[in-house]
Amino acid sequence: MSREKDRKLQKTVKLQRAAIESAANAIFITDETGMLEWANPAFEELTGYRVEEVIGRSPRILKSGEQDDKFYDDLWGRVLEGKVWQGRVTNRRKTGELYTAEQTITPIRDDDGSITNFVAIHEDITSRLESEQLISHMALHDCLTDLPNRYAFDRRIDIELTRGKRLDSRVAVLCIDIDNFKEINDTFGHSAGDELLVEVGRRLAATLRTADMICRLGGDEFAVVQPDIASRENAGQLAERLLQTFADTVYIESQEIFVSASLGVAVGDQHTASGSELLKQADLALYRAKDAGRNTYRFFEDDMDREIKRRMRLAQNLRRAVERDELFLEYQPQVSLGDRRVAGVEALVRWRNPELGMVGPAEFVPIAESSGLIDEIGLWVLRTACEQARAWQDRGLPALPVSINISAIQLHDPGFVDKVKRVLAETHLEPRYLELELTERVLLEGKKCVEETLQTLSKLGVSISLDDFGKGYASLDYLRRYPLNKVKIDQSFVHDMGTNARNATIVAAVIELAEKLDLQVIAEGVEPVDLLQRLIDEGCEQVQGFYFSRPVLPDDFEALLTLGSDRIQAHAGLRRQ
Ligand code: C2E
Ligand code: MG
Ligand code: MG
Repeated sequence: MSREKDRKLQKTVKLQRAAIESAANAIFITDETGMLEWANPAFEELTGYRVEEVIGRSPRILKSGEQDDKFYDDLWGRVLEGKVWQGRVTNRRKTGELYTAEQTITPIRDDDGSITNFVAIHEDITSRLESEQLISHMALHDCLTDLPNRYAFDRRIDIELTRGKRLDSRVAVLCIDIDNFKEINDTFGHSAGDELLVEVGRRLAATLRTADMICRLGGDEFAVVQPDIASRENAGQLAERLLQTFADTVYIESQEIFVSASLGVAVGDQHTASGSELLKQADLALYRAKDAGRNTYRFFEDDMDREIKRRMRLAQNLRRAVERDELFLEYQPQVSLGDRRVAGVEALVRWRNPELGMVGPAEFVPIAESSGLIDEIGLWVLRTACEQARAWQDRGLPALPVSINISAIQLHDPGFVDKVKRVLAETHLEPRYLELELTERVLLEGKKCVEETLQTLSKLGVSISLDDFGKGYASLDYLRRYPLNKVKIDQSFVHDMGTNARNATIVAAVIELAEKLDLQVIAEGVEPVDLLQRLIDEGCEQVQGFYFSRPVLPDDFEALLTLGSDRIQAHAGLRRQ
């Protein structure tokens, strides 16, 4: 070998050695019997053993017991045949800690082909595995409560449904939603809200059998899948147990919070199309439980599906109702008992759709509210009613205030006052001929902006009346706090005040109270004549009801005003006794 060649070879060996020494992966070499001959610094770092300690020993010192004998038999079988072995192995460091490595073992042969050594390279993948595990955990769990998430839950329901079909058993899905969670969040702050969610998740999970699974669907909604049940009753019992977990108060940030929840249950069987269908049904049932006054549970029933489909059809058609001119107003007189005159008129919206026929406001107004259409419809009602009131005045009929019903959502619109002003200006109607009817629900929220809006409208000269009084919360506080002109006693009290003594007392009390607070009072829903005498006796000023007239089209209302009504005249004989 020439000197030059020798120098080059030496240089190459030096470089290779430096590369192996500085490699990030642990590298060690054993003799043909598997005894350690050499290891690089990365080996020391990975295993915690110093090189001097291990020379002459077997790499078995790293054995963790995580792999069985077969694993090592296969490994040795392969390398002794002269083949490279690659695979994942979990070893134990000197400290006792485990680590996982991608291992490659390469046999080295001498010139005559016999194996002299084995070179092993260990790439430490422990932290990569940990982050992979964390990521896959996160993909299937909710990070706040650490419960399985929606995705994991969907997969589980599908699995249970398929299994249920095979075993001819049923699967229940229960959706749970904390009542008034938004208010709790607003009152106690978001971190308290988060703590509450964790606590609720913990309590619910503690109620379940191991076969059941709970997940956080999102927000304040949780869901449980209960596989393998014999009947609906099993699901009902679980629903009760889950609701019962809310009976104990919750302490959050050392404050005592009372929480309740509503729950919807759907039971899937052979005929259930899919897991997502079952979850949707449980969710619909949950809304029913909320409607039923919360803190309760409901089973999904087939008619809920029909109802939801109808709601969806209504919502779709309602979108174009204004532009297609499908809305119209009917007018119902408000009669003053003192002088037997029509003293006002309430405008009530109606919807006639070619496909759906007539739809009443009690059905479509809530849909308009939840689908964001109420502002447009409300504005149409306001404009149409004001135009009509103005037109009647222009035709020389007695000037009457027209009442329109205002939804809570309209009142929350910061531009509402401007809209009212604009409509009054454009229709040339004086503000004193406009009356806005609100329900207690709007006032219940106690929003400052609502109070300000009402004050501004009142200063403008628009009247404000409280509709359906007594039906909701009947708070006397509202009557003092807000600039109200009139209280409308809810029909449910008026209807049966002839036979129901309690309701008769309520009606009498409201009339008396209104008088004291200098508010006008009107009784709604007066149908039979005998009620009229009672209301007169109680000192009620005005009534509205089918007895005098149903809500009618503008022409019929005009006729009623010009020709008068026998009924209105006829009660002349009734006097306060
Ligand atoms: P409301 O404002 O309390 O209107 C009175 C309802 O009672 C009307 O039903 C009316 O037809 C009915 N009614 C009046 N007198 C009697 C009676 O003697 N007996 C019986 N059984 N019923 C009587 P309608 O028109 O179906 O309206 C229902 C509700 O829909 C209204 O209750 C109101 O809350 C809402 N609404 C109606 N029009 C509008 C509107 O333009 N905008 C908004 N936001 N809501 C409206
Ligand atoms: Mg009304
Ligand atoms: Mg009413």
